[in-house]
Parts: sequence; structure tokens; C-alpha cells
Amino acid sequence: MLNKSLFACRVCGLEQPEPPWGLDGKTATFDICACCGAEFGYEDSLYSAVVSYREEWKRKGMNWWSEKDKPEDWDVKAQLSNIPAEYL
Ligand SMILES: [Zn+2]
Repeated sequence: MLNKSLFACRVCGLEQPEPPWGLDGKTATFDICACCGAEFGYEDSLYSAVVSYREEWKRKGMNWWSEKDKPEDWDVKAQLSNIPAEYL
């Protein structure tokens, strides 16, 4: 059973098709999160960067970087609850 938190964006909690930091949690894909637009391995490499990116994203209205991927019934609260505890 894979650890589900490996698949969640550290910034916004969106579940990714691939683990943003690989299965070992150390090998970043450098993909872009469809929701918050963070680049894995770059904007989410440090705790402080994750928190400030998240605050900025919230301040700007929590827009989707890729609007076409936004679910019609998007549940932001449920998504935010996926953020790995060590990045809250
Ligand atoms: Zn994200």
C-alpha cells in the first residue's frame, strides 16, 4: 500500500498523478501542480517555501493554475486536508 501523502502537493494538497517527490520522497519530478501552480522540487523544497507559497496562493484567491483541471465540485477543504502534516 502506497503512502497517499506521497501523492499530495505539499502546498495545496492536490493529489498528483505521480508522487511529486518520487516514491522515495527525494526525487522531485519538477512537474507543476495543476491547482496551486507550484513546481515540485523548486517551490516546495523547503518548509518555509511551502508555507509562504501556500499563503500567497490563498491570498490571491486559491486559483487553479490549470483552470481546465479544476473539478466542478472542487472541495478545497478536503484537498487542504491532504497536505502532509509536516508541511502544515
Ligand atoms: Zn498544489
